[in-house]
Amino acid sequence: MQRPEWLKVKVSQEELKMMQHFLKDMSLNTVCQSADCPNIGECFARKTATFMIMGSICTRGCRFCAVDKGCPEPLDEDEPRRVAEAARKLGLKHVVITCVTRDDISDGGALHFAKTVEELKKIPNLSIEVLVSDFKGNDDSIKTVVKAHPDVINHNVETVPRLYSRVRPQANYQRSLDLLKRVKELDDSIYTKSGIMVGLGETEEEVISVMKDLLEINCDMMTIGQYLQPSKKHIDVVEYITPERFERYKKIGYDLGFKYIASGPLVRSSYHAGEAMGHV
Ligand code: SF4
Ligand code: SF4
Repeated sequence: MQRPEWLKVKVSQEELKMMQHFLKDMSLNTVCQSADCPNIGECFARKTATFMIMGSICTRGCRFCAVDKGCPEPLDEDEPRRVAEAARKLGLKHVVITCVTRDDISDGGALHFAKTVEELKKIPNLSIEVLVSDFKGNDDSIKTVVKAHPDVINHNVETVPRLYSRVRPQANYQRSLDLLKRVKELDDSIYTKSGIMVGLGETEEEVISVMKDLLEINCDMMTIGQYLQPSKKHIDVVEYITPERFERYKKIGYDLGFKYIASGPLVRSSYHAGEAMGHV
């Protein structure tokens, strides 16, 4: 299926290369590069990125995701410090940290997340958002991340429950909702955020139903973006959702009660993430 015009983006090679060199020098991974994010030109030109900690190889095999799968490397103990150094050098006001899912580590890497937040907290006036895995529902892991007290804990439900077996076979919709619910139970001063990709065959009613499920557990923010097939090996796009429908989702989301909604063809979980902080 051919991509419509609204999904075609220009990338400035010069800005892209500068940021790529910087990240390579710092030995840091970003989801921007690993997941072939279409916004990489824009975000790297604005000197912003989403750091992906705990390596570049994921233990899960979500069928929409371009991140490499397999057996990951051991944790890099110095990585939290380098993430903070990079945030400082880039002059970030809001930082987003995500990870590959580490089902091979007993706490899923929760402590590594906490150490990274701790390092970032040394930087004045920086808001911190962590985009976490589901930690296989491990309550101690969720507590560890909550205790580190980032400003936002983000965990994507990714799609509507009916499509889980096709899109996220190793994940569980209810477990993802429970994680976000648990964050609020433990500390309701932390904002929660979640997101879905659309264009996978979901109906409008199903999207609205996910919104209601998220609001039911007091989720503050939501992102909705178009799924783009990273390669022929990944699941097909079923539909390119029009910008008008994205606008409708945004309006419905606000009417239902979200504090912040980003909805658009190129919206990703971390797209303009700092802007959301001005709305909550
Ligand atoms: Fe990176 Fe997020 Fe920007 Fe994509 S939207 S390039 S993942 S910061
Ligand atoms: Fe990609 Fe996350 Fe799924 Fe791993 S768990 S394959 S990084 S979406």
